[in-house]
Formats: sequence, structure tokens, C-alpha cells
Amino acid sequence: MDELSFILNELGEHRDDYYRSIAPPIIQTSNFAFHTVEELRKSFEDEYSTWLYSRGKNPTVEILKEKLAALDGAEDCLVFNSGAAAIFAAVLSQVKSGDHIVSVEGVYTWARKMFDIILPRFNVSTTYIDGRALENFRSATKANTVLYYLESPNSWSFALQDLAEVAKLAKEKNITTICDNSYCTPLFQRPIDFGIDLVLQSATKYIGGHSDTIAGVLCGKKETIKKIFNSEYLNVGSGIQPFNAWLLIRGLRTLRTRLDASAANVLEVIKYLKTEPLVEKIIFPFDESFEQYALARKQMKNAGGLFSFIIKAKSANEIELFCNSLQHILIAISWGGHESLIVPACASIPNQSFDRQNPEHRMLRFYVGLEEPAYIIQDLQQAFEKLKPV
Ligand SMILES: *Cc1c(COP(=O)(O)O)cnc(C)c1O
Repeated sequence: MDELSFILNELGEHRDDYYRSIAPPIIQTSNFAFHTVEELRKSFEDEYSTWLYSRGKNPTVEILKEKLAALDGAEDCLVFNSGAAAIFAAVLSQVKSGDHIVSVEGVYTWARKMFDIILPRFNVSTTYIDGRALENFRSATKANTVLYYLESPNSWSFALQDLAEVAKLAKEKNITTICDNSYCTPLFQRPIDFGIDLVLQSATKYIGGHSDTIAGVLCGKKETIKKIFNSEYLNVGSGIQPFNAWLLIRGLRTLRTRLDASAANVLEVIKYLKTEPLVEKIIFPFDESFEQYALARKQMKNAGGLFSFIIKAKSANEIELFCNSLQHILIAISWGGHESLIVPACASIPNQSFDRQNPEHRMLRFYVGLEEPAYIIQDLQQAFEKLKPV
């Protein structure tokens, strides 16, 4: 039996309970009623296993949770109203005043803001390291380190961590590991299989897949997830709403197909970019030129449609002209949807600070969606022409 087909099409669904409908119902309710006070009392005692109130559990969300946990090879899962909320709950659940975190550098903006702005107010400090070398984890670890925060691959630089090695070191030191797996999704990488404790992803990207829903996923051991449910999840009230959960279930139906298409299209686009004289470098984990290519091949089943490239531009204006000239590829920050997107690094650099000698300033992040590769390539080609002297 193909386990993936079963998870995406059947697992968690109870069609006999709702007229054999193929799509699940959206149980749009805040509240659940009880036959007796005794039933209500039992629910108060164990909200985690009963229907009481939709800030906690909701049947539509529950279908989604079962599927997402199974995809990650996890015992249990929570689904949040954003990836950022999943990060917040996961990290908050692991730290107390006086604790120390080791995080890889360049992590997702709102993880970094949590480490830099919110947690210091509660006397929790963070050290950033280059996570490509295991030694850096070892040397940054202090007596009060409780958490290693990972993101592999990083969604800009694509830097990886050796998940099995980091998990092994963490276990020796009794440190919890969290990995942001948004780039790969559990279809292309399963951090829990390598010994990572908690794995999260922004479901806004590939799981939703249609650029219409914000959501986040957190998977781990049942004991840990239950603890987070009873505290951070219920207390912050950051759980996903039933309709958005339904959209994600719909997204899951085509997840494998979309990922495979995006992963195939990206190779075509990269093949073209390598022939383009204005392209200096491609940064993509499954490209042989990638410095951690061997590790990528070892721990990732495949790479998705997101990569970066560096262009030989003489100014930020040239990069802007290139992006503004695109007729089909959209300028936007997210990824994982049906549509190809581009975002230049220079958009976050004040114009007067732009340094043409710095390749990072000339970097563009590109997401290849589900369009025909030729359609995307043609759009890139005509934009590159705008930069060439006639
Ligand atoms: C988008 C993203 C997030 C945050 O997810 P939201 O759903 O936007 O809150 C976290 N990590 C990575 C790597 C992301 O790309």
C-alpha cells in the first residue's frame, strides 16, 4: 500500500459520520454541547481528548492534524493560525527565565524577532551560529542551554544542518531540538526520522499551496504536544480556524503532485539560468555546485521550487529594472503556491547602502510554481534583455 496516498486521501476521515461525503464538513462551531453534567466534567478534566470548545479541539481541524502528524512520522501534531504562531508556541514551551538558546543564523524573521526582542525581556538569551559545522553547536552550548533551533535548508541561503548529527549531540546534552522544515515539507525531509524532537513548518507555503491561507504546523511526541496544547496553544488561542483547516485538507490532496511538479520545473529553470551570461551563481541544495550538496542528498528526498541566484548587476536600479520587467512572474515574498514569485535581496537594503561588490546584495530569491517551464523561462529571458546594451 502506498502510505502517502492513504494519508492524503483517507486517514483521519470518518465519512460514514457525514453522509459519505468525500470532502469533509467544515464544523464551524465555537462550542460543543453535552448530554449530562458528568460528560461536561470529564471534558473539563481532559480537553485534549474531547470536544469542548474550538479554541482547543475541532473535528475538521482534527482530520488535518492526523494527516499532518502521519506525514511527519510524528505521534501528534498541532495546527496553528500561522507558521509564526507555531514557532512562538514551540519555543515558548521549552524555555524559562535564565535559559539559553543556540539558533542557526539567518532564521526566519519572526523567529529571530522572538529571540532578539521578546525572550530577552524574560531573561532568555540566544547565540546565533553557522549551523553548517557541528562544532559550532558544541562550542556555543553553555551549562544553561536548553534548545537548539534549526532551519534546514534556510529559505534564503539554503544553508543546511546535519540533522542526525545535531540531534545526536543534543541528546547527549539533554537539549531539545526544533527544526523549521518549511522548505522541504515532510514529503521531502522528515526531521523526526533523524532524531529531531519538534518539527514545524509554515503550512502557508506548500501545504496550503494556493496562496490563500496562513497556517503553521508543529509535530512531535504526544507527551510534548499535549503539554503545549494545554498551555501555549490554549492560552494564546493561536489555533487554526475550521475553514482554514478545510482549505489545508484540500491542499493536501494535491500536495505530492504539486511538489513534484515544482521540483521538476525548477530544474528546467535552473538549466536555463546557467546559460544566461548575467547569472553569476545559483544557490540550490540539489545543484552539484552547492557546497553542502552531499548532505542535501543524504537527508533530503528532493528539493522544492525555491532557490536563489546572483546576478551581475551594477546597481540596485538594474536589479529593480529586471524585476519590474517581469510580465508573469510576480514580485512577492511568499512561496509554495501555484505561481512563480521573485524577491530581490536589495528590497531590504537602503539604496545608498547597496554594495555591488557584495554578492548577497545582488541575490534574488526565486520560487518556481506550476506554470510551464518555457513560460517562466521566456519571461526571465525578456527581463534579462532589458539589462543588456543594444
Ligand atoms: C513563511 C515562513 C515561516 C512563517 O510562516 P507564516 O505562515 O507566514 O507565519 C516560517 N519559516 C519559514 C522558513 C517560512 O518561509
